[in-house]
Amino acid sequence: MPESEILVIGGGIAGTSTAYHLAMGGHNVVLLERGEIASEASGVNAGNIGAIGWGDSPNLQSHLTMGSLELFKSLQLDLGFDIKFRNSGCIQAIQTEQEYDFIRDRVLSLRSRGYSVELLTNRETRSIEPDFSPELPGCMYISLRAQADPRKATMAFASAAAQQGARILTHHEVTGITVLDDGTYQVAVSGEDFHAEKVVLATGAWCGQLGEMLGIRIPIVPVRGQMWATSVLPPRVFHTLSESPLQWHQEQGNSSELPPELTHNGETRTTRHLYGRQTQAGEIIFGGDRQVSDYDLNIDAEGIEVNRGQAVEVMPFLKDVPISRTWAGTMPFSLDGPPIIGKIPQRENLYIVSGMASSGFGRGPMAGKLLADYIHSGHRPQVLAESDPARCVTSIE
Ligand SMILES: Cc1cc2nc3c(=O)[nH]c(=O)nc-3n(C[C@H](O)[C@H](O)[C@H](O)COP(=O)(O)OP(=O)(O)OC[C@H]3O[C@@H](n4cnc5c(N)ncnc54)[C@H](O)[C@@H]3O)c2cc1C
Repeated sequence: MPESEILVIGGGIAGTSTAYHLAMGGHNVVLLERGEIASEASGVNAGNIGAIGWGDSPNLQSHLTMGSLELFKSLQLDLGFDIKFRNSGCIQAIQTEQEYDFIRDRVLSLRSRGYSVELLTNRETRSIEPDFSPELPGCMYISLRAQADPRKATMAFASAAAQQGARILTHHEVTGITVLDDGTYQVAVSGEDFHAEKVVLATGAWCGQLGEMLGIRIPIVPVRGQMWATSVLPPRVFHTLSESPLQWHQEQGNSSELPPELTHNGETRTTRHLYGRQTQAGEIIFGGDRQVSDYDLNIDAEGIEVNRGQAVEVMPFLKDVPISRTWAGTMPFSLDGPPIIGKIPQRENLYIVSGMASSGFGRGPMAGKLLADYIHSGHRPQVLAESDPARCVTSIE
């Protein structure tokens, strides 16, 4: 039976970063991925990296976003992986005068707490993003935000982990997990058993299924995100673009039925949402819908049209640009909102890094590093108190 000290299950951004940082710390690591590296959300997302700064009193969100930003930079600039990283900045479009007032107050509040955001008028916005609609009041400009190729970045973490000695095994689907009498793990993978002292669950929207193998309930819900792309065009969009409904700024997780910040309740649209960018290769890509999916990756054509209409409001030239392809992926939303990163209290030596919802590409690298630091040192980094699995993971009776 193949032996390792630590088995990381899942080859998305969270699992590959965890494996890399554990291997850097000298641990004997095996990563098991059922498909290819980055074959799920981590390979198909929009590649937007969100960060607004450390702020005066850095919380988990600051650590995950700013820490990940540095890790992406390091992959590209220090380790030599061409992940198409660019600190492009982000334009968060403002649609109405009422929203402009809200964002003005928000910018003042964020700046007073040490974050790097600015309120730009329409003229100022168009001077840095020339195709921005002349009809909109302006934008919130976030200079720290960045972008990278999601698949290349996730593959880079896997390669960096392998360079540090981790074994990365693709086409290895975990079908069963047994806790042995001594608290170690036997993990079944299509006819072969692996043995490990510690297990890390990094299986994104499939964490619930892995939890069931262990007799625990992990409240992570699969949420479909869908995207569309134009054909390859000359450079036209220079920043990442986004827009969020006002209500999300006040919304709290309810931890009962639906995660917060969805665009749909069942089949009914409750709001719309937008994010996008132009890739280095030249495609302009946009998405935004978030709908509880049960792993259904069929495209909702109506949702794509709504999203496209919203993109046209922000960048009117897109009206005449046809859609050349669409795709979807499954995001891991925790029911109450925050990520789930840390030690699972119901079992010995069992850890999880997941629940990063719609911004797990931009937060996954640091989530993996923080979890690796925890396992390496035996001491939980203080900021992980906010993501403690103990708040929501329960035993299945
Ligand atoms: C359309 C879309 C757009 C998005 N845009 C952005 C964005 O712009 N910015 C951003 O920050 N985030 C974005 N996200 C969210 C982001 O992609 C996710 O939060 C993040 O990729 C989750 O990473 P993960 O490693 O936790 O999960 P995943 O990438 O899903 O990785 C989990 C892995 O576990 C594997 N696995 C599952 N079960 C098993 C098993 N039994 N055995 C072995 N392996 C298993 C899967 O095959 C998968 O590869 C977007 C997501 C989508 C779908």
